[in-house]
Amino acid sequence: MDRGASDELRAARTQLVSYSARLLADGLAIGSAGNISVRIGDLMAITPSGIAYHELRADDICLVTTDGTELANGETPSSETPMHLAIYAATNAAAIVHTHSPEVIALSASRPELPTIHYAITGLGGPVRVAPYVRFGSDELAAAAVGALDGRSAVILRNHGAVTYGRDLAQAYDRALLLEWLARTYRMALSYGDPATLSTAELDEVTAETRRRRYGERRGPA
Ligand SMILES: [Zn+2]
Repeated sequence: MDRGASDELRAARTQLVSYSARLLADGLAIGSAGNISVRIGDLMAITPSGIAYHELRADDICLVTTDGTELANGETPSSETPMHLAIYAATNAAAIVHTHSPEVIALSASRPELPTIHYAITGLGGPVRVAPYVRFGSDELAAAAVGALDGRSAVILRNHGAVTYGRDLAQAYDRALLLEWLARTYRMALSYGDPATLSTAELDEVTAETRRRRYGERRGPA
């Protein structure tokens, strides 16, 4: 049976192509930089290496099993395939977005983490760590990213970019946008001097209130 032919996989391929176009439009990557993936059962659908996003077609999307076996389609899976696989293995991620977005890269070159400049950072699990620099595509980078993701759904890779994950591609992508917005906001705040940040207690209060309101929504109109 052709494992690449299910409706779910077809939908994932189409979704990956459309979100790749958004990466360019939203300024989160240029050319073919960055990569995105979706997990479906024991398969990962991931953008290929070296194809500019504006030329990407659904058939170009690569499939790799979660143990790292490529299902050939004539394209080479993203060079960051080891990092995507490691994050799926270590978390409950169903989709991963890796960007080369300018604000997080600028921050990564001079700060050890993105501090709590705005309460929306609770959506990423708290202050976002900057993982040490390791060469792109390496197993060491995969390990560094997984280590710095502990308790977070986002990590910044020093002198490289960022990674976010979510329960689906929409959530992972929204988190990538949020991360870039937070980094930009922090840079703007730095221009005034020494920005105030939120304490752990203040963040915990936000998380508790967010949960309470979501609980209210679930009990809403039947
Ligand atoms: Zn990269």
